[in-house]
Amino acid sequence: MNSGPRRLFAGWGRATWTSAHVAAPANQAELEHLVFEGLEGFGRFVPRGLGRAYGDAAQCAGGLVIDCRGLRSVIDVDHERAEVRASAGISFDELLEFIVPQGYFLPVTPGTRFVTLGGAIASDVHGKNHHVDGSLGAHLKRLCLVTPTGVLECGPQVRREEFEATCGGMGMTGVVVEATLRLLPIESSWVVVDTERASDLDACLSLLSADPAKYRYSVAWVDGLAQGKRLGRSVLTRANHASVAELPERWQRQPISYRAPRVVKVPFSPPFSFLNPATVSAFNEMWFRKAPRKRERRLEQFASFFYPLDGVGNWNLLYGPRGFTQYQFVVPFGAEQALEKVLEKLSTGRVASFLAVLKSFGPAGTGPLSFPTEGWTLALDIPLATPGLPQLLDELDLLVAGAGGRIYFSKDARMRPELVQAMYPRLAEWQAVQGRLDPTGLLVSDLALRLGLTRRESLRHPETSDK
Ligand SMILES: Cc1cc2nc3c(=O)[nH]c(=O)nc-3n(C[C@H](O)[C@H](O)[C@H](O)COP(=O)(O)OP(=O)(O)OC[C@H]3O[C@@H](n4cnc5c(N)ncnc54)[C@H](O)[C@@H]3O)c2cc1C
Repeated sequence: MNSGPRRLFAGWGRATWTSAHVAAPANQAELEHLVFEGLEGFGRFVPRGLGRAYGDAAQCAGGLVIDCRGLRSVIDVDHERAEVRASAGISFDELLEFIVPQGYFLPVTPGTRFVTLGGAIASDVHGKNHHVDGSLGAHLKRLCLVTPTGVLECGPQVRREEFEATCGGMGMTGVVVEATLRLLPIESSWVVVDTERASDLDACLSLLSADPAKYRYSVAWVDGLAQGKRLGRSVLTRANHASVAELPERWQRQPISYRAPRVVKVPFSPPFSFLNPATVSAFNEMWFRKAPRKRERRLEQFASFFYPLDGVGNWNLLYGPRGFTQYQFVVPFGAEQALEKVLEKLSTGRVASFLAVLKSFGPAGTGPLSFPTEGWTLALDIPLATPGLPQLLDELDLLVAGAGGRIYFSKDARMRPELVQAMYPRLAEWQAVQGRLDPTGLLVSDLALRLGLTRRESLRHPETSDK
């Protein structure tokens, strides 16, 4: 196994870079050897998948990053139970290529298919269907986890605390090696999509609230720069998997195929961000006007509906050398004013967000650190070169926390530790389990260090400890 020289790591937002040694175990035995006997000299480690967390969750300044992509020996569908058993280093892209032709879809998928199964579990990812299906953890049957204290199998019935602490535990409970996931049977690889424009935030929220079970998948693209009466104007896309009967006759003979568009690459990182208030405002105007006022029952292949950004491999380079952050929060239903206030502050501050996405979440899952809680979630990609951004986002954090909401660790690179306890009131419960699995504090990420997530690190940030 290679635990070679130091490398620089950053998240998808390319915001904060730190250096660490890297080890890339090719299988579970090599991983166990590394975790139980090979950590001397490194002091601490963090698992890493495909590096799609936007911030500093999968990096470990001065320690060891364990690249988990080599964990890929198992991928096996059980048709009787409609479930897949797979190694944690396998990507959702690879899983889909394997399961879709066999008539299954992932029960939950984030907006990119270039995440590993292990990374998705650690973030307890949500998709456009949280209001119906919850987050990924709700569909897991079991996990195999390599922790500093040993290898353990866990699931909703067996070692439940360890299982729940791992779903959304941001890699701090151990390295997921393998998991068994329930699948969603599908008749075709097409989705039937309804598109509708909403003239302002109220209209958008009413459309998203009306008959939520009618669509398995719902999302609204929001024009983050629109102000005044147009604040929150948006384009909703809502969809269901298409049955064979819903397809034109000529497609019915072969309703299922894995057709993901070829990935093109941005050839270089421009010296500045292409995405500024002028370009984003022009794009938003065009996008809103181009969208049909109302269009029903358009058939799309799943890849273009679920993964519109994946066609361009490294689009994150377009934000230039300063990088970007994704500001994603959730506030409870009833706190719509906070949502409106956030949008107002961003649009009057001319904060250009090329991508602003609003969804509704159903009831929270069981993970103490899992992000989704019932309410509205808004995610905005924001260039870090935006003047005054740190102060503005600090202000928004207070607004979100004051409304009973929280920030998503998987997207964060800048939040302050003081607010963690308020946003994640079950932190102490999670810390107790994490501390049992890693009593000497070997699992450390830059995120955990910055926010004082683990009990050891929280001693540095007394605000986050349970006192
Ligand atoms: C374009 C885009 C769209 C996205 N859309 C969504 C979305 O809709 N919903 C959503 O929830 N998220 C979304 N995300 C975030 C993404 O799903 C998560 O950050 C996910 O965790 C990334 O997986 P990864 O394999 O790249 O993990 P990494 O980014 O490498 O790591 C993320 C976390 O997982 C841990 N980890 C990685 N592998 C393992 C392992 N084997 N065992 C234990 N811990 C591990 C790391 O320590 C780290 O804490 C999006 C990201 C991008 C770039």
